[in-house]
Amino acid sequence: MRPTGKLHLGNYMGALANWVRLQDSGQYECYFFIADWHALTTDYADPGRVKLNTLDVALDWLAAGLDPDKSTIFIQSHVPQHAELHLLFSMITPLGWLERVPTYKEQQENMTGKDLSTYGFLGYPLLQASDILIYQAQYVPVGQDQVAHVELTREVARRFNSMYRTTVFPEPEALLTPSPKVTGTDGRKMSKSYGNTIGLTEAPASVAKKILEMSTNGQRIRQTDPGNPDLCPVGDLHNIFSDQSVIDSTRSGCKTASIRCEICKMDAAKSVCAVTGPIYNRRIQLESKIEDTWDTLREQSRRAAARAERTMLPVRNILDLSHDLGAVRRHFMASTEERLQNHDLSMHSEWWTLAPAQRAKLLRDYWRNNLVPYDIQLSQESNRVFASLERELEEPLLTTKKKRLFVTTARNHVADRPNEWLPRVPVKTFEVWALLCWERETYWLRDFIIPQRFYSQQFALAKRSLKKDDSVHLTVRRDGQKFWLTVAESEPVDITELQSNYDPLV
Ligand code: SF4
Repeated sequence: MRPTGKLHLGNYMGALANWVRLQDSGQYECYFFIADWHALTTDYADPGRVKLNTLDVALDWLAAGLDPDKSTIFIQSHVPQHAELHLLFSMITPLGWLERVPTYKEQQENMTGKDLSTYGFLGYPLLQASDILIYQAQYVPVGQDQVAHVELTREVARRFNSMYRTTVFPEPEALLTPSPKVTGTDGRKMSKSYGNTIGLTEAPASVAKKILEMSTNGQRIRQTDPGNPDLCPVGDLHNIFSDQSVIDSTRSGCKTASIRCEICKMDAAKSVCAVTGPIYNRRIQLESKIEDTWDTLREQSRRAAARAERTMLPVRNILDLSHDLGAVRRHFMASTEERLQNHDLSMHSEWWTLAPAQRAKLLRDYWRNNLVPYDIQLSQESNRVFASLERELEEPLLTTKKKRLFVTTARNHVADRPNEWLPRVPVKTFEVWALLCWERETYWLRDFIIPQRFYSQQFALAKRSLKKDDSVHLTVRRDGQKFWLTVAESEPVDITELQSNYDPLV
């Protein structure tokens, strides 16, 4: 809700009463915020009342039953993540999407006296999209006139997800709930700009006075004339606020001219004040401790920011922004001792106890994230034909040059052959093998990056005697400082130089 100052009955019935119901239903985790940045999209030249209006809205919300123990209630500009996401979305949103939002042209034409040919005004539906998606919301309680904005939000979510191959943003749905239109004191729609409002937290005496002075829209000019309550704004108030018995008796009294308009209006005032009176009293109490409300809003804004941050973390990562050192660290560790230390997995000794398939996956991911130099990008091959071979064997990866890389893991057999690892690879064609050999005693991970020329001949021979779904057994053997690779029964090849040598991946 934009901070337009104290709310009137139209705002209450059109949105707030429904929000309180949604909150109290316990069905949803609700976020409600006062959109002070949105206020600036139209009031940028005269921001003098934004802060006061923001507090007025907050007080009315709390008085009307929004409850910080049940919902998160905050001020938009206290959660900078909204603006950050808005900026990122602005990079990917085509201009045409914003220009064709129906309210854009409409409001530009209607708000005379304000220059709305600004970037901020054009972009406000995108700021709304960010407001919604920053909480990964599933539903947005809106009126029919806002459905186009929710649709834009869905398009933005879809575009981001497909552009970056992610599912970070759900596509939210509009939660349309019945919200009766409240007629103003002059018979037109209740609106501040018409000066025909009844305040939600107006003193009961003032509410009654306004209702008693309300127009009957030409009905019952003489007391003896029968009237039609469906054409009278007082009749509308009864329909929204009165009990059925009061509605029935005033309707028949109006139609038969057996009730005076003053009595009908006094009954309407009673019905309205039965709803607004307690809200008015709560507001008086809240106003007397304004610091408490302010502290609540600040605390709630921090809570909202923590939730928003949970969305921003993956978003920043997807866009590869530098909010933490992350994987870039590896780039600067190329020849340092620290990099070498990444081969030491003693911190992860518990991995030994995992099921082989799980351990293989961890080792493979660890290798990819911590040992392969940062500038070598490995991607998953979409073709899953190799996956079925054996659970322990992983799917191939692709290097940036589209070389097929097979990563396999093995541990040495301490008891009988401590200097041997026995990895396996499928009977398929790869340009490179990465053999991850883990030392059981020292928890040291040795990675040998073997290009095809080192094994192609032996591999071709071994393949002849195997079936399509078999795997080829390899042996990596340590002999002093040297490491030898044997493919099936062939002659061993010296692979010492290939340990942690990532050139074949480039
Ligand atoms: S009786 Fe009530 S509903 Fe009928 S015209 Fe008078 S004020 Fe309106």
